[in-house]
Amino acid sequence: MTVAIYPGSFDPLTNGHIDIMRRGLSVFDRVILAVAKNQSKTPTFTIEQRLEMAKEVFADEPRVEFDTFTGLLVDYAKSKNAKVLLRGLRAVSDFEYEFQLASMNRKLNDEVETVFMMTSEEHFYVSSSLVREVARYDGNVGAFVPPCVEAALKKRFKS
Ligand code: ADP
Repeated sequence: MTVAIYPGSFDPLTNGHIDIMRRGLSVFDRVILAVAKNQSKTPTFTIEQRLEMAKEVFADEPRVEFDTFTGLLVDYAKSKNAKVLLRGLRAVSDFEYEFQLASMNRKLNDEVETVFMMTSEEHFYVSSSLVREVARYDGNVGAFVPPCVEAALKKRFKS
């Protein structure tokens, strides 16, 4: 059984993330959506809120597990018996950072493989940070996030 970990901030979960998750599920037996706890930046949503929204979106998918992690991703992967780290790629701008991250993770533990999946065209420009900016100024983010996230953003930024 191949277990993959899809790590990220998911602040908030977007249709781009969902696309990568669904692609991952078509290849791997189980995917663990793991929200990183060790982020220095101030989050828009708490870890609990982010997990709740992810659980709602993947409620119909028994092969998804939800978790949080602190510390090194490769150590967390080992603790979950996962051999694959799933990451999404958008435009070239993602490449340099993702390349560094994957190289570092391989140096730390070469038994864990990073697998990249490319998002579909309509999600190419979707990022959590852009979605937050648009929502903050009351723009319509309905095309970029699932309904539960759209509602949470409205609530979070209502003036
Ligand atoms: P991080 O803070 O680790 O970058 P994110 O939540 O922003 O976490 O993203 C998690 C992963 O999902 C990363 O690999 C990122 O490149 C990928 N990702 C984010 N948005 C998209 C998207 N629209 N299409 C494809 N992959 C995406």
